Amino acid sequence: MFDLTGKSIVITGAASGIGAATAQRLRKAGAQVLIGDITDCAESAAQWGCTFRHTDVSDADQFAALLDEAMERHGRLDVLVNNAASAGVHDMAEADAERAARYYRINALSVLVGMREAARRMERGGAIVNVASLSGARGTPGWGEYGMSKAAIISATQTAALEFGPLGIRVNAVSPGGVATPLSIAINGDALSRALEVLAPLGREGQPEDIAAAVHFLASDDAGYVTGQNWFVDGGWSVGTTVQT
Ligand code: NAD
Repeated sequence: MFDLTGKSIVITGAASGIGAATAQRLRKAGAQVLIGDITDCAESAAQWGCTFRHTDVSDADQFAALLDEAMERHGRLDVLVNNAASAGVHDMAEADAERAARYYRINALSVLVGMREAARRMERGGAIVNVASLSGARGTPGWGEYGMSKAAIISATQTAALEFGPLGIRVNAVSPGGVATPLSIAINGDALSRALEVLAPLGREGQPEDIAAAVHFLASDDAGYVTGQNWFVDGGWSVGTTVQT
């Protein structure tokens, strides 16, 4: 089930957290996986059976070179997982347009460019999975600047699904809620984890592997009739909370 044998997959931001779990899972499912990240993870990548190329996804030339390397190494490109992102917590009252533009460039514009470059190389069709966020679809105090960039990803996912569908390329998004990763722990400590024990219907914070499982399905041919969707993988938090009012 969800076999990826022979697939050529590029995943960004896989030096840690959700990306790292996803790279390992996709590799175990049989894919050839090339990781692009600004953080060097060549050693870990080799241990996982993946390869690594230093890539800043906000630089279009570097992103294109990453995809070219996949074409050279694997002879094709089947799947792109746009997972890399930068984040921080800032109240709207202290909004900073320069900082928000930086989030937008790294998180959203990289996805736009990555999808364009991937579509040009997916000669036999393929799948793109964009990692968005619950904060891109719902108000989230402190996450306004970052959330705007994630909302843009959800929008671009839908339009790309329409335009690339006739080329045989499926485009979907996964929106995590709270996930225990280095990024989240650095920002939230254990506060989010404790809050989700109460707020999330499934009574716990997500783990990177929970998101990796959803990406795996959407990347596989088993999701062959799924496109344009934004899949919340959040323990049910997007639906509501368990707190009775
Ligand atoms: P993480 O910090 O553990 O991983 C992010 C990775 O992206 C890092 O390896 C980092 O080096 C890389 N990166 C950052 N800027 C880059 C750039 N310009 N070019 C290339 N790589 C770059 O974070 P994570 O929590 O695993 O996040 C993964 C994805 O999940 C992100 O898109 C994030 O927005 C999303 N997300 C996370 C949560 C959560 O609770 N952890 C919730 C919602 C969405």
